Amino acid sequence: MKTWLNKESLNHCEGDYYLIIGSPVKHSLSPKMHNLAFKLNNIPATYFSLDLKVDELPEVIKNLKNDKNFKGMNITYPLKEAVLKYCDELSEVSKLTGAVNTVKNEDGRWIATTTDGIGFFNGLNDNNVEVKGKKILLLGAGGAARVIAAQSLFEGIDELIIFNRTLQKAQNLKEKLQETADKTGVKIRVFPLEDEDRLSKEVEESDILVNATSVGMGSDDNSLIKPEDLHENLVVCEIVYKEKTELAKEAEKQGLKVIDGLPMLLFQGAESFKIWTDKEFPVAEVQQKLFDN
Ligand code: NAP
Repeated sequence: MKTWLNKESLNHCEGDYYLIIGSPVKHSLSPKMHNLAFKLNNIPATYFSLDLKVDELPEVIKNLKNDKNFKGMNITYPLKEAVLKYCDELSEVSKLTGAVNTVKNEDGRWIATTTDGIGFFNGLNDNNVEVKGKKILLLGAGGAARVIAAQSLFEGIDELIIFNRTLQKAQNLKEKLQETADKTGVKIRVFPLEDEDRLSKEVEESDILVNATSVGMGSDDNSLIKPEDLHENLVVCEIVYKEKTELAKEAEKQGLKVIDGLPMLLFQGAESFKIWTDKEFPVAEVQQKLFDN
């Protein structure tokens, strides 16, 4: 019994287990996705959600570090950066972004990366969106945007244009990514979101628009893009998956290709699963059982 956690969900856990930690995690789809994938792969392990705040983290980490049955975890808001210092090895993308969403426990050594970026691009690939040689316009410079931006440098794109409400954050991101971008031949430019004329011009010249801001969640849903700036050659990607945003609705109305946040969610999970188990994640079955209405 994991009584040290004093969390109901884990008190029943006897064998190997995986976690998603963060707050809130009650409605996370990850336990359903991974438990189904374990079942379909005949892997005797369980995946739980554990609601944790930043100040509860050190105590829980101490216990996880000493628990042989703990095999790995996903990390979500607000812990993606707080977990960093407990990891023994970081991937290139985690070093570039300071974010971790996947930890694998290898005999007490924590190997960490973030699969959100690769999940995003695998989701595009699964929807037949070609990114090689393309110009991507990214809205946002928060946690998710940073990871997508970092991963985009390894995907053969031509140019990354970042618009953010707080320009300084976008500039910091560019600075962090510049050395890698120089190596992989990606041009990066950044602008403040309030520069509407520039935004209109850049949307017009872009191939893929990615809204990686939190605009679109709940009541904060005034599209950041003017309807008249959308054009038929633009693919519109939203990373919000809980609801259809105003931007997605407008793009669909105009007949554009729209990708919501579900493929990203599914494929980041698939990458984490591969890292933990060295097995393929049953993408089609999970999609069909959990996401297809
Ligand atoms: P975050 O770190 O808090 O960043 C939020 C971003 O949104 C920042 O760039 C912020 O700009 C911008 N923003 C917030 N309110 C705004 C407004 N009213 N106008 C313009 N910009 C605004 O959040 P995050 O972790 O990156 O998450 C962003 C979204 O991605 C959330 O909706 C989350 O659910 C979703 N997400 C989806 C997946 C998936 O698998 N599909 C994975 C991760 C996250 P400032 O820098 O100026 O504050």
